[in-house]
Amino acid sequence: MRTIGLIGGMSWQSSKIYYERINQLVADRRGGATSAQLIVNSLDFAPIARMQSEGRWKEAGAVLANAAQSLERAGADVIAIGANTMHKVATQVMASVRLPLIHIGDTLAAGLRADARSRPLLLGTRYTMEDPFMVDHLANKGIGALAPDRTDREALHAIIYDELIKGVVTDKSRDMVHAIIDRSAAREADSVIFGCTEIGMLFPSTHAGLPGYDTLELHAEALVDFALA
Ligand code: GLU
Repeated sequence: MRTIGLIGGMSWQSSKIYYERINQLVADRRGGATSAQLIVNSLDFAPIARMQSEGRWKEAGAVLANAAQSLERAGADVIAIGANTMHKVATQVMASVRLPLIHIGDTLAAGLRADARSRPLLLGTRYTMEDPFMVDHLANKGIGALAPDRTDREALHAIIYDELIKGVVTDKSRDMVHAIIDRSAAREADSVIFGCTEIGMLFPSTHAGLPGYDTLELHAEALVDFALA
């Protein structure tokens, strides 16, 4: 089995879900007492969140590149960034190591294409919904993602940073996200992307009202495919 190197802590709420899903998938596929070979380099999210909000992406990329290099030294065979937003600096991270990086956007595109989805609604942080890195990544693979309108984007961003990364899950936010999806379904979305690794804390993507694609789930599956190949 190959060893997965996960850059985590972005946030730790979703890193624990990654940890559980990766181990569960390995156990399901291999059976017995088998569990994943996994090294998690869990970062302090506070300085990273500050760099995000101040637009200091290159600096944030350097922090992640450093984390990837220490995973490489520790014996990982593959690197994963356990978040969507920080894939904004994926190229910088990839350039810093010899190991392959399994890109969350590639695993997402593969999942959408397998079901012939071409017009997904992209939910995530403001950075993921508004900066072109994820939309362009999907567009390059022939998928035209649409984003919620501005008020909804702001509400969702606040739910992620003020609640979900702190482990706070409320019915009010659950209802708000359902309402955002319903409004976008009316704008002809054919599916919905949980493009933030904490959104699944609210409700599973199978209960989204539209066909749902949880990036954490797709990413974990791709990492396990690699580890067990
Ligand atoms: N985990 C998040 C994501 O998937 C949000 C936190 C972050 O900015 O990294 O985008």
